[in-house]
Amino acid sequence: MRIKLAKNVGFCFGVKRAMGLTLKALRENPGKPIYTFGPLIHNPRAIKKLKDIGVRVIHSLQNIKTGILIIPSHGLAPSIIVQARKKKLFIIDATCPYVLRSQRLAELLAKQGYRVIIVGKSSHPEIRGIIGGIKRMGKVIGKTEDLKSLPKFKKIGVITQTTESLSNFKSVIESILDKGFELKVYNTLCAHTLKRQEEARRIAKSVDLMLVIGGRNSANTSRLFEICRARVTTYQIESPDELSPDWLRGKKSIGLVSGTSTPLSAVKEVVRTCNFVAEPCCS
Ligand code: SF4
Repeated sequence: MRIKLAKNVGFCFGVKRAMGLTLKALRENPGKPIYTFGPLIHNPRAIKKLKDIGVRVIHSLQNIKTGILIIPSHGLAPSIIVQARKKKLFIIDATCPYVLRSQRLAELLAKQGYRVIIVGKSSHPEIRGIIGGIKRMGKVIGKTEDLKSLPKFKKIGVITQTTESLSNFKSVIESILDKGFELKVYNTLCAHTLKRQEEARRIAKSVDLMLVIGGRNSANTSRLFEICRARVTTYQIESPDELSPDWLRGKKSIGLVSGTSTPLSAVKEVVRTCNFVAEPCCS
């Protein structure tokens, strides 16, 4: 059995940076409580490891009196940051610079009087963070059908969730043309996720089975899964123990891709498990 492993695996730049800042905070502040508001990154195994070394995930500041608050890689609504400042928590901003750029562009558009359309998933923390900064000037659109209820505006600005699919972003932009007189579009897609999507498309065309490794709460991993599933039998797993030998039976080649918050160690473990299943040791 041949394994085709994607070139772009392991943490992306934004996730590496967020993990680095968190580990540095732990090293430099022994004994101090360290919190992240929501998971730092979207990978349950990595979050469990952080918890084991003292980083707690919280969803409210209500009972937090002191300590360090880390803003996750996908950002945070300004109202929560204001609350944290009032409580005099020490804040470390691990927002990915690409997400920060989207937040700033949305704020700029809103300030210039544009109705801001954000293409993405309204429940995703990145989108909640952006909307939190522009309030009523923002509207989240998941797909073109959601535009039906949108009234016409003189000025419309458009950005997208960093992990959105390029094709959905394009089709929403095309449909928005009818909704406004002046249209300003910023391409805020993350180049790192686009590269992984391209690789997934290419590999999925040439193998019998695809394995997508990454958290089920990770938007970019779900995107990879959708891309692969449209082309070949595909399974998404978070760790090698979810891998079933039955999936690999009779397969000549399998492809492996992973989300941007999947550690390289998890990818290597899956490769080892696949090799073992293909040629089990007889000792
Ligand atoms: S996927 Fe892109 S936007 Fe998201 S954390 Fe990584 S580099 Fe930043």
